[in-house]
Amino acid sequence: MPINTTTDKELSWQETALCAQTGPEFFFPAPGSSTREAKQLCGACEGRVACLEYALAHDERFGVWGGLSEKERYSLKRDQG
Ligand code: SF4
Repeated sequence: MPINTTTDKELSWQETALCAQTGPEFFFPAPGSSTREAKQLCGACEGRVACLEYALAHDERFGVWGGLSEKERYSLKRDQG
């Protein structure tokens, strides 16, 4: 889930971010609610890989980034050591 207020080159993937066109409620669902819709949108997003890399690199804790929930990102990081 991108932050729209930067021109940092690292964040250029946000220009194609599909989630910028939707409400944040998809990407920051209430605890225990479904992340399915957000993940579906990520699946169609051109910036998905860069988005996920950014979230992993910056240890983003909340919300869906690059098609993965916070738990899934945590597992991925843990498995990568
Ligand atoms: S992959 Fe998902 S969270 Fe990341 S920019 Fe695209 S729609 Fe947003």
